[in-house]
Amino acid sequence: MSVPVKATCSECLTTHLTKLEFGQEDIRCPACGHAMKNLPEGELNELDIACKKQKMNGIISLVCFAISVVGMFQWSFTMVKDDTTVWMIVTILFFLVALVFGVLGSTKRFIVEF
Ligand SMILES: [Zn+2]
Repeated sequence: MSVPVKATCSECLTTHLTKLEFGQEDIRCPACGHAMKNLPEGELNELDIACKKQKMNGIISLVCFAISVVGMFQWSFTMVKDDTTVWMIVTILFFLVALVFGVLGSTKRFIVEF
């Protein structure tokens, strides 16, 4: 298991994307070699849970977005012959839900300074 984070080195201020592995000894800067002990297991676990939750929110958001796209097509194709209120509501509702979960799924980015 690994947690994707942004790591900023306090020596050379380089920021790089890295993955913190459970059981990994230290965090090392690829530019200058400065190293710090890895975060404690408890913290890594918290980050991992937060990342998984965000990923789940992202997936829910995509699914809702897909439903709203289908709803939109139904809305436009049935416009001529039927009452389209239901499809309009489905489209707007799922689009809003997708928006909310999309925001929830992308709020936190973890930055580790070492
Ligand atoms: Zn560095």
